[in-house]
Amino acid sequence: MAKEISFASLCAREPDEKRFNKTHQLPIYAASSFIFEDFAEGEAIFTGQEPGHVYSRFGNPTIDAVAEKIAQMETWGVNLEAKALLTSSGMSAISTLFFGLVQPGDKILTHHGLYGGTTALMDQVFKPLQIEAVPIDLNDLHLINEYLQKDKKIRLVYFETPTNPTLHCVDIAAISQIARDRGVISIVDNTFCTPAIQQPLVLGADFVIHSTTKYLNGHGSAIGGAIVTCHASLLEEKVLPMLKLTGGNSNAFDAWNLHNGLKTLSLRMERQSQNAKEIAKRLENHAKVSLVNHLSLTSHPSHELAKKQMRDFGGIISFELKEGLEAAKRFMGKLEFCTISPTLGDVDTLILYPAGMSHMSVPREIRVANGITDGLVRINVGIENVEDIWRDVEQAIG
Ligand SMILES: *Cc1c(COP(=O)(O)O)cnc(C)c1O
Repeated sequence: MAKEISFASLCAREPDEKRFNKTHQLPIYAASSFIFEDFAEGEAIFTGQEPGHVYSRFGNPTIDAVAEKIAQMETWGVNLEAKALLTSSGMSAISTLFFGLVQPGDKILTHHGLYGGTTALMDQVFKPLQIEAVPIDLNDLHLINEYLQKDKKIRLVYFETPTNPTLHCVDIAAISQIARDRGVISIVDNTFCTPAIQQPLVLGADFVIHSTTKYLNGHGSAIGGAIVTCHASLLEEKVLPMLKLTGGNSNAFDAWNLHNGLKTLSLRMERQSQNAKEIAKRLENHAKVSLVNHLSLTSHPSHELAKKQMRDFGGIISFELKEGLEAAKRFMGKLEFCTISPTLGDVDTLILYPAGMSHMSVPREIRVANGITDGLVRINVGIENVEDIWRDVEQAIG
């Protein structure tokens, strides 16, 4: 063939693929589209009569393989079958799901202290579309029941457990049950725990969303999100069409990066939880620290609930320096080993000052009422040797 066609045609042609057996690692299918052998195959795949790929915004072998693995993780150990979609970010997972499941006039029952981007999404994107978020105390199960009973416009209950950075938990099984009894869909943001520690679908939730950017990827190498559910038809009929139309899909390279992280998820979550537990214990005994938030501590108000619905206590700690703002600033300035960064879930220890960084735009009274005081510091505890982390934290507290 090469000798028969012009040089320009040879340049433009796809090469013949010499692939005889499967690669050991998942390949990156960096392809926007897929080819059909003939008209019949094209028609069968396009109409869904035959399985196959068409265009990577709709699906791609790398993306689909990783999505399926996350679905298996969220339902591991039980007789449930989940399906998942990967999205371009955690925000895209949330917005795609909302666009798929609610209409103007509908309401979303939720709580205070959500991820900042999620609250802003509700206020700035969905509220102008007449889709209102109603934040209440989701620890009050009677109140949830009351709201769902009196307001039939509420279609979704959306929550995070534990919350950032104070780690307050709500009861996934109880809330999901109340929602199901009223025909309302429950959605849990499981970013902080991952299925290694908490499986909301197993506890009865209808949907899980993730920012895979955090623990699932674990190495800070890609922004990404996931939507997971056991309601395959709802996903295929309502959510997937919305993902295709709004274009919030993942891409093969980021999905592959995410998969590299998934391989060590179990090890990482175990080590990060173990290190965090040790650091939290030492902080609680420190004279200059007035409060420590970690779910392993019996002093944490959500300790019992965490024990009930989580397999471990996770790698996030927040703690309050007695001397407030000035002490927090001094602490951040003296860090040498730990890194100051706004993200979480990476393998190295990252420290954030919520009042002056992630929660800066939240009015002070609301911030403080939610436990984000001027002296509060958050630690994403990494997988390093715990003594190295502690030495730095201790010297920085001074
Ligand atoms: C980071 C984060 C998000 C948003 O995810 P992106 O990947 O940054 O879009 C949503 N929820 C929680 C709990 C997060 O930590």
